[in-house]
Amino acid sequence: MMKLSRQFTVFGSAIFCVVVFSLYLMLDHLQLDHTKSPNGGDRLQNGQLSILQDKIDRLERLLAENNEIIANIRDSVINLKESVKDGRGGPDSGNMSQGPYPDLLVSPPLVLPIDSQDCQFAARQFSKPADGVQLLDVYDLLTFDNPDGGVWKQGFDITYQENEWDSEPLQVYLVPHSHNDPGWLKTFDDYYRDQTQHILNNMVVKLNEDSRRKMIWSEISYFAKWWDNIDNQKRDAVKSLVERGQLEITTGGWVMPDEANSHYFALIDQLLEGHQWLEKNLGVKPQTGWAVDPFGHSPTQAYLLKQAGLANMLIQRVHYSIKKHFASQKTLEFFWRQNWDPASSTDMLCHMMPFYSYDVPHTCGPDPKVCCQFDFKRLPGGRVSCPWRIPPQPITDVNVQQRVQMLLDQYRKKSKLFRTKVLMVPLGDDFRYTEALEWDQQFQNYQKLFDYMNSHPELHVKAQFGTISDYFGALRKSAMDPGHASLSLPVVSGDFFTYADRDDHYWSGYFTSRPFYKRLDRILESHLRGAEILFSLALANIQRAGKPNGFPSVESYRLLTEARRNLGLFQHHDAIAGTGKELVVIDYGTRLFHSILNLKQVMVNSAHWLILKDKNAYSHNPSKAFLQMFKTFVLPKCFSSRSVVIYNPTEQDRMSVVTVYVNTPHVRVDTSHSHPIPAQVSAVWDDATTASTELSFVVQVPALGLGVYHLSKAEEGGAETAQYLFLRQGGELSLSVKHFTVNNPQDDTTPVSIHNPHLQVWSSATTGLMERLKLKEDGSEHRIKVEFAWYGTTSSRDKSGAYLFLPDGEAKMYSPAQSPVIRVTKGSVFSEITTTFDHVTHTLRLYNVQGVDGQAVEICNSVDIRGEFNREIAMRLTSDLDSKDRFFTDLNGFQIQPRRTMAKLPLQANFYPMTSMAYLQDSGTRMTLLSAQSLGSASLKSGQLEVIMDRRLNQDDNRGLGQGVLDNKVTSNSFRLLLEKRAKTDNEKPSPLSYPSMLSHVSSLYLNHPLIPMAVSTEAGSLSLTRFSPLASSLPCDIHMVNLRTIQSKVRDEAALILHRKGFDCALSNRNTGLLCATTQGKIRTEKLFSNLRLGSIAAVSLTLMHQTEGGSSQEEISLKPMEISTFRVQLT
Ligand SMILES: [Zn+2]
Repeated sequence: MMKLSRQFTVFGSAIFCVVVFSLYLMLDHLQLDHTKSPNGGDRLQNGQLSILQDKIDRLERLLAENNEIIANIRDSVINLKESVKDGRGGPDSGNMSQGPYPDLLVSPPLVLPIDSQDCQFAARQFSKPADGVQLLDVYDLLTFDNPDGGVWKQGFDITYQENEWDSEPLQVYLVPHSHNDPGWLKTFDDYYRDQTQHILNNMVVKLNEDSRRKMIWSEISYFAKWWDNIDNQKRDAVKSLVERGQLEITTGGWVMPDEANSHYFALIDQLLEGHQWLEKNLGVKPQTGWAVDPFGHSPTQAYLLKQAGLANMLIQRVHYSIKKHFASQKTLEFFWRQNWDPASSTDMLCHMMPFYSYDVPHTCGPDPKVCCQFDFKRLPGGRVSCPWRIPPQPITDVNVQQRVQMLLDQYRKKSKLFRTKVLMVPLGDDFRYTEALEWDQQFQNYQKLFDYMNSHPELHVKAQFGTISDYFGALRKSAMDPGHASLSLPVVSGDFFTYADRDDHYWSGYFTSRPFYKRLDRILESHLRGAEILFSLALANIQRAGKPNGFPSVESYRLLTEARRNLGLFQHHDAIAGTGKELVVIDYGTRLFHSILNLKQVMVNSAHWLILKDKNAYSHNPSKAFLQMFKTFVLPKCFSSRSVVIYNPTEQDRMSVVTVYVNTPHVRVDTSHSHPIPAQVSAVWDDATTASTELSFVVQVPALGLGVYHLSKAEEGGAETAQYLFLRQGGELSLSVKHFTVNNPQDDTTPVSIHNPHLQVWSSATTGLMERLKLKEDGSEHRIKVEFAWYGTTSSRDKSGAYLFLPDGEAKMYSPAQSPVIRVTKGSVFSEITTTFDHVTHTLRLYNVQGVDGQAVEICNSVDIRGEFNREIAMRLTSDLDSKDRFFTDLNGFQIQPRRTMAKLPLQANFYPMTSMAYLQDSGTRMTLLSAQSLGSASLKSGQLEVIMDRRLNQDDNRGLGQGVLDNKVTSNSFRLLLEKRAKTDNEKPSPLSYPSMLSHVSSLYLNHPLIPMAVSTEAGSLSLTRFSPLASSLPCDIHMVNLRTIQSKVRDEAALILHRKGFDCALSNRNTGLLCATTQGKIRTEKLFSNLRLGSIAAVSLTLMHQTEGGSSQEEISLKPMEISTFRVQLT
């Protein structure tokens, strides 16, 4: 009893306080880090301390002003599902169709209405084009033996003949660039103040001095901040530099995003935000993508850039063995084609940089010792030098010939790795060109080299500064020249994970690092999408009604813009990757957190207007919110009833479970038509004797709509209370809690079991962890064992850090020092099994719903490894599926990439990013783990799937960060586990193509976009509310509304409607899925899209609205190909 109550106390209060404490710890840290900073002392005295103080004050005000923030944190940041709750109902009362309210649970169609033509896409076989390269084949081919290649350590010796350029000269484009991380060792603002603004200011001066000089710039987050701080004269100077082609904006995204952890919603959003900014302020349309630093590359990004109208792209961080292979095959320049594209419509011209890094020593040619001598920032006397110990020399009339020979030799060797005689050489590094002197050093010395080269025809070289698009223009001209048919570039399909830069240093750690923030990112994404859509609909409806009535559209739009930019910033490759310094992580976290709160405000503002029956009764009072988005206080003591508005952010009608806090177990729920609906009251323990209560009920809410429900006090006939069973091996347990029945086990050795209409789960009575799962559909049972395991870090010199995963061998099974407490909850709405170990609280939950929510087991792990050293904790699912060495992970939530676990690679190389799902399968069954956050995953043995949940590492891994990862938080990871029957296919060949089932897609959507409850203010009085149902009907099952985003600065009636038609596999069972939608071959009649609103105009545009596009769509009908993401500029009237 003592032990148990202590555990409850610890756990309950931990949940309640974690994020509040986190925020305070953040503040502590801010102060500590800065006072400890050895060289920052002086500056701190002046400005920084007061800025920090302001920040702290603001945060504290926010916390103090608003108690509800605590509830918000409980809701959002700490996923509530692992708080100590319980349920009841007994094994046979779970099936709601036999419950007391059968008429309210619409029986979903037995078989999913899928047009058979819609199944053909996924049934197609992969066909490799003639000059095609499939990355999976390359992995089969390579030995990964890492021999010493000489001066080009990871490559080979390159030779050439002097006369090779006699008939066609070498064309060299030297591309000056400066890589500006929007946060890494310093925060975004600090980098801007100390470096970036000076780079951009000097750029204007130095490019204007000589029209032959060029520069490229990528990060619009920085550019926009600078733009706000410069006068019109400087802006005009920048515009003319762009017009003259001296300055090129590459990619044009808000940041250079991480390509492993970022979800495609956020990838699109940050690209759109950057492009919209460019269109409005500079009037430029980027042509070429530039990604020199993301730690591995995804074909999703290639597709998105293609859809945005870009023509070319460049990538850099690719496994050194792949680079070497591609160099030897001259396939470093290729058309990147999506695996799933049967034709060439997705082809994107891509340049892969051949060497180790994007700095000067590794870009002019194969020998870094030579190339470093051509980085004139490293001239003697400067702050940086050449580690190869031969410094650069200033170019003079005396040495120019000899220096040209040296450099040209490197250029020629590098050129031998490519098919054309056009050569691209980057010139830059991190935060380069801060000082005027550096501009002079680089541009003046190179100009002398070029002048010499170009005035000596016998050298057969033409060298110049260029932008990256100058280079691609020349490349295309050369490669597409009819006279050069032999130069045609190959087609490559696949992805470039998992990256290794040297030896066995695989960058698979960052797939998991700082998982707390990876989860927070996903919560912000679902809030942003929900708020964007609801705001756009509210705006259009208000305009249609002609009654603005003080609707806070400007303020809401400001909050939306800020949230877009905070989310965009976090997609940066050191942000969501979890590879920034602690105080930078805090800066990001604060931004994400603020925006989550602000987006709740936007949703509340929008829902307020939409939900009122009499719009004349609308009035906005910022100090008295009509709706409140937190779960507590739903039934304050002095009120006997309260309305709750439920927002369904998904684009199909949805039947799901919603949970709110109530202050009494005696409560009933009715629809707006006064029909009672099934509900369950469960306990949320604050400690062993006092429990607050929460209410869960099943709602049916229209697509993108708002439903209204009434909660009222009811002594009888209200919600059923959950029943509890506590188990603990070897320890006696007795517990009683007011209002709830707690049973003590009769027999504590038989497995505990919970079930719903679709599934039954058996868990060990000792550990509470799942051992078996039964599909009621066909009565089949599968062994699926959930376990936890520890990885350590290697004892050799290089150890795991924020980027790298360098384990000390296979994981060791987690074995807790004492038996865990297991709590079994049984109830009419959900049942669950919760086990509390020392480092993890693990919950398995089944919803008693005849539908999507009932099809999967919800898994929630609350992980706390703050007391550990150099350890990583994994959740492992071991099944009886005969999956061999094959498994599947998604890329950016957009597409599935088949994987193969290879014994020739070290363990850490077999980990891959899992953005939203991973699965494995045999001929009869597929097991999918859907994820609500990005984490690293692997299948190290047949039938086994594992994900790393958190990592705590004491040391830096020598990639510049200079810190370990020791700022762990209590982190909730949410998943759904789906088991599906597959149509048997004999002799199944490994294919680079695979798709989730429709059920899997929709389950993933539900997991990532939960229903959003809002309580109507108790002061709202008797205003009558009406259900809001914006769509004429559910969108087709396979069409996802990525966003309906009001267009920048025009708080009017235009919006970007972004739709994605998902690819799905019909060869998985589709019985009883409970989907409330059908498929339509990707077509939507526009006049049938909205119920109240009309599409005043609709124009197919490129992904980020920069270009008009031709496509299958018209004013009357939207038409999407499978996998296609398209944007439409729409006017809602
Ligand atoms: Zn970077």
